[in-house]
Amino acid sequence: MNSGARIMDGTALAKRIRDEVRERANRLRSRGVEPTLATVLVGNHGPSLAYVRAKNKRCDEVGVRTVQVELASGTTTNDVVAAVERLAGDASAHGILVQHPVPTPIDRRAAFEAVPLLKDVDGVSSASLGRTILGMLAFVSCTPSGIMRLLSEYNVPLEGVEAVVVGRSAILGRPMASMLINAHATVTLCHSRTRNLAEQVARADVLIVAIGRPRFVLGEWIKPGAVVIDAGYNEGNIGDVDFDAARLRAGLITPVPGGVGPMTIATLLEHTVQAAEQQNLE
Ligand code: NAP
Repeated sequence: MNSGARIMDGTALAKRIRDEVRERANRLRSRGVEPTLATVLVGNHGPSLAYVRAKNKRCDEVGVRTVQVELASGTTTNDVVAAVERLAGDASAHGILVQHPVPTPIDRRAAFEAVPLLKDVDGVSSASLGRTILGMLAFVSCTPSGIMRLLSEYNVPLEGVEAVVVGRSAILGRPMASMLINAHATVTLCHSRTRNLAEQVARADVLIVAIGRPRFVLGEWIKPGAVVIDAGYNEGNIGDVDFDAARLRAGLITPVPGGVGPMTIATLLEHTVQAAEQQNLE
């Protein structure tokens, strides 16, 4: 038995990324450009409010300005789309984030589609996802993008390896699988209808779990020496992987918290300064 996997420290890497973002934001400001992230927030969903607060705090720390459009829960899809379109036409807003989930019956897809490609720093539109799949330049959804950065930071080889992604959402599992395919991994994408999930997971040299069920992936499923990335975030700071058991078999593993989570916001900040740079080329 392994004496314990090496921990992939997302907190430390995210801090380094934020330090780089701060320098880029300063350079932009010295040219008269104030990098700005605009958030559209609908209703008062507790975790969303907490996420937006955390994100705004991180923006402040690195010198990215935030503006917020707050809409009541009873708002219509048309009103949300109109708010996004106003920001799309506002040259001072470089990145747009539609905080989700949005309350039912608002059509979040319609809101996402109103975000223009160059401002889609959260990578939620079908245009961004399509370009991600094709390996074309785009802002890739922040969590999978942050995971690729972590894999690269820890020199995890991807070419030819068996990668298994559990979860197929448009913001996480699907772009993740696409990026791994583009990095030449052999990818299996699992979901709630997958048969024998344990057998699929056991083949993984690189395992990415993003399902939203606490400690669902058991340690005994993990291939010895595998790289285990837990994107799950459940109440009480619990991941989707049974960390204590999995770390005894894995070679590298992300903790929850302190693994994938900090990378998501750092990536959003990085995308925002990149968008501001692209929209203000010298
Ligand atoms: P989601 O939209 O609810 O998607 C969950 C996915 O998991 C779906 O594809 C679902 O399959 C699959 N799934 C559910 N139960 C399963 C099971 N028993 N076996 C296999 N697959 C199963 O969730 P999400 O937005 O992708 O988020 C996933 C997790 O990541 C959550 O814990 C969330 O909090 C976390 N997250 C973390 C960050 C971060 O910054 N760290 C960011 C975003 C999300 P079907 O498609 O068949 O329904």
